[in-house]
Amino acid sequence: MLKVYNSLGRKLQEFEPLHENSVGVYVCGPTVYGHSHIGHAKSYVSFDVIVRYLRYLGYNVRYVQNITDVGHLTDDADEGEDKVGVKARQMGVQPMEVAERYTRSYFEDMDALNVRRPDICPRATGHIPQQIKLVKTLLEKGHAYEVEGNVYFDVESFPDYGKLSGRSLDEMMEGVRVEARGEKRHPADFALWKKADEGHLMRWDSPWGIGFPGWHLECSVMSMEYIGPTLDIHGGGLENVFPHHDDEIAQSEAATGEPFVRYWLHNNMVTVNGQKMGKSLGNFITLKDAFAGLPPLERSVRPMVMRYFILTSHYRSPLDFSVEALEGAEKALQRIENTVGRVRRALEGAPAGEAPDEVTRLVDEARESFGTEMDNDFNTAGAIGVLNTFTRDVNRLLDAGEVLPREALEAVGGFYDELGGDVLGIITEETGRQAGGEVTGELVETLLEVRSRLREASQYELADTIRDRLEELGIEVQDGPEGPEWRFR
Ligand SMILES: [Zn+2]
Repeated sequence: MLKVYNSLGRKLQEFEPLHENSVGVYVCGPTVYGHSHIGHAKSYVSFDVIVRYLRYLGYNVRYVQNITDVGHLTDDADEGEDKVGVKARQMGVQPMEVAERYTRSYFEDMDALNVRRPDICPRATGHIPQQIKLVKTLLEKGHAYEVEGNVYFDVESFPDYGKLSGRSLDEMMEGVRVEARGEKRHPADFALWKKADEGHLMRWDSPWGIGFPGWHLECSVMSMEYIGPTLDIHGGGLENVFPHHDDEIAQSEAATGEPFVRYWLHNNMVTVNGQKMGKSLGNFITLKDAFAGLPPLERSVRPMVMRYFILTSHYRSPLDFSVEALEGAEKALQRIENTVGRVRRALEGAPAGEAPDEVTRLVDEARESFGTEMDNDFNTAGAIGVLNTFTRDVNRLLDAGEVLPREALEAVGGFYDELGGDVLGIITEETGRQAGGEVTGELVETLLEVRSRLREASQYELADTIRDRLEELGIEVQDGPEGPEWRFR
């Protein structure tokens, strides 16, 4: 039985979708004014696995993730300039060129991370009439008011306001200067529609004059448009709980009178060497820089290694990026990849025959443990632990020298394909089959030959260095009567 941690109410709950067998998932997508960074990777890899696991369980999932190309202001609330608009001015191009360029960049990075594309990726600018319609409904129902071309949501008209973050209106008042209130009735009132100043690039006609939608509005509108008034799962980063998600709840529930979301799921943030990541701190890591080995990481990270690394921690835990941690992840993933390669190669010439009980039991038990971990609020860290233990056991079987029949290898290979591949997305068709696998073998042979010569010349210290370095790469060397033998650990 799948249990999920619901941020609304802050407890672990049994997962029951609104309609049997089908699940509607909405996750807040990127604001497309720059290249994606490692924080995006954590969020979208996490939700990718959540959706993959729901599908593995047999649910028919519709996964919607928006692209924010208008309305996200530089202060993340009601003030400042549009982030996409600012970038357009800096680059001297149209806002839609900025949005298009970084939307493509985002998908390039996600494809590299083996994140499956959501079923629908609606753009905010493509849904302006629907947003205007929701504002009209809120005005008609007395939950909003207009002041000179701006429309605000009246938080005092919605008694549940702040129920997700757990903030009361009084708490929200604290720290707000009286003059900051401006034309709002309550300082926590937020913009549904904003009047466009002269210099504002993106603007649309509306019943309240020329303007543009508030940032929170698009998520309510597009999620309900493609899923319905009640979503099963709404995901996003922890930093969006307040005000973004509290505002989405207020707008949607005030308009429809129905519960907006059954389960709110929030992923935690990333840090770099124990510090918060920020452009001003000089430790901001974009995915393109990380993959290419550019500063600040200065070590190229294979996208699949990043994906594996992200999944070694729970989505609700913070994740600390460091070169050491990524190197550790690389070795661990390589061990799995090497074993998958061994299994796939063994399958090619495997004799027919039934799987021995030992193998059947190993696969069944691993499958069950994997499910137990994932049923516990998508605990990918535990699931990866199961995969690692399974890999050790498979290597032990393969090392034992007994030739495994086809059925046994198929059961083992099936476990890797389905759980490591379909669910975690860290194993693909290519895993263990790359030409690199053979080159690696030849390189190891060459190094061992050099080592033998060094030993013949009594250069034991250098010879040992070669063995130690190979050991560090997960390659075990043993000297036998026939010369050195090696294997991946
Ligand atoms: Zn959103």
